[in-house]
Amino acid sequence: MYKIILNGITNKYEYDALIKVFLQPEEYVLICDEDLSAENAAETKKVLVDSVEETPEYETLSFNYREKNELKQDIYRRLSVLTGLQPEWGIHTGVRPVKLVGELVQQLGSLEQAADKLKHFYLFNDEKIKLLCDTYRVQQSVLKKPTPEEVGLYVGIPFCPTRCLYCSFTSNQSKPEAIQAYMEALHREIRHTGEKMHQTGLFPESVYIGGGTPTSLTASQLEELLSEIEKAYDLSRIREFTVEAGRPDTITWDKLHVLKAHGVERISINPQTMQDKTLELIGRSHSSQGFLEAFAMAREVGIQVINTDIIAGLPEETLADFANTLDTMIGLGAENITVHTLAVKRASRLIDVDRAFHYKQARIVKDMLALSKEKLGQAGYRPYYLYRQKHMAGSLENVGYAKEGSEGIYNIRIMEEGQTIVALGAGGISKACYPAENRLERVPNVSNFEIYMDRLEDMLQRKDENLFRR
Ligand code: SF4
Repeated sequence: MYKIILNGITNKYEYDALIKVFLQPEEYVLICDEDLSAENAAETKKVLVDSVEETPEYETLSFNYREKNELKQDIYRRLSVLTGLQPEWGIHTGVRPVKLVGELVQQLGSLEQAADKLKHFYLFNDEKIKLLCDTYRVQQSVLKKPTPEEVGLYVGIPFCPTRCLYCSFTSNQSKPEAIQAYMEALHREIRHTGEKMHQTGLFPESVYIGGGTPTSLTASQLEELLSEIEKAYDLSRIREFTVEAGRPDTITWDKLHVLKAHGVERISINPQTMQDKTLELIGRSHSSQGFLEAFAMAREVGIQVINTDIIAGLPEETLADFANTLDTMIGLGAENITVHTLAVKRASRLIDVDRAFHYKQARIVKDMLALSKEKLGQAGYRPYYLYRQKHMAGSLENVGYAKEGSEGIYNIRIMEEGQTIVALGAGGISKACYPAENRLERVPNVSNFEIYMDRLEDMLQRKDENLFRR
């Protein structure tokens, strides 16, 4: 058990995120100046005493105040010696490492110099630097800077047939009447924001309907939704229209034909794994065969780009299980394959089963990610976006791979944070982008869909004031 003391620091949370990459929460207590203030001293003492009851003694590690990243380097080096671990993302604990690359290129003048700083200052390992530079190059070749009038439009459908074990998203299993009532509120938000966008000269560069599982709607609800979107917005310059058809068990001929007829050319069909025993274990209500049938239907209907999400580190899966899933996706010729690392987040059911699961999976996930990089590279896929999350196995990453020319524009934009996002529906978080000030202003909708319906007028007003005031 370690007692880690940060002298001269009042906000410990960013450092805590780095320490958690090395140590499990039960293995240490972190104390900063604020914990020792008169206000918090009694609670801190209690935490220390309670922990000592379970473990006989502390080893104390003390760090003195210095510039934030230098202090993180110090923590990284000392914990590396102590634990024998050398985390691949160095001292970086943020979500968007590719955005950091872009900022460094701007500051330093070249990708080579940015890579050098990632290695010697941020302590990334060579493999991650290569992955980042490859991803950055692809993004630069695919997209120019957005104009101020182009926005990303997100529409959230917060319903799924069942809740997956690892889910931390807005996902409800609701009655048809409740879903219909939600759709009516959503249509009202679509019409309102459409008018505002016309008035302010904004138009969608991309549309992304996500969730939840949008295809848990009926074919006629999808038809109405897409018609409302077509009527409300100027789609004449749209570059991408995506619908998350995530769960194969929600996909039907009728729904796919509706999507195709309304110009949806990119969908996600997510098997997560091709192992039926795992699908059952994680609470997906479909089989591997069901996924294959849904994929074949989408091909037959003529959807141009199909993304498939798979997850590394699922419970009880071996490297061979994962390789089989990966080989199947490549064999099917999915245009995009997104390799997620299992994360055990607070809102998931998995955290009740095993709080430390993601720590135990670190080794195998590392091997799975290395395998995916190798196999996908050989098959002609390139990494085009990536992000990290808290509580990921091995503190690793999610990577979207794409065949050339099929890269998901919305995904890149959302990670770059250089474009205004207009997000509709429960849980939608709009972001007003002010590039000259390098600033984003978040304008969130509430995430509970029933409260969203009750408070829709408040949220429309919030959007008017913060998103459409220009
Ligand atoms: S399909 Fe996605 S949103 Fe729905 S329950 Fe599973 S993880 Fe959550």
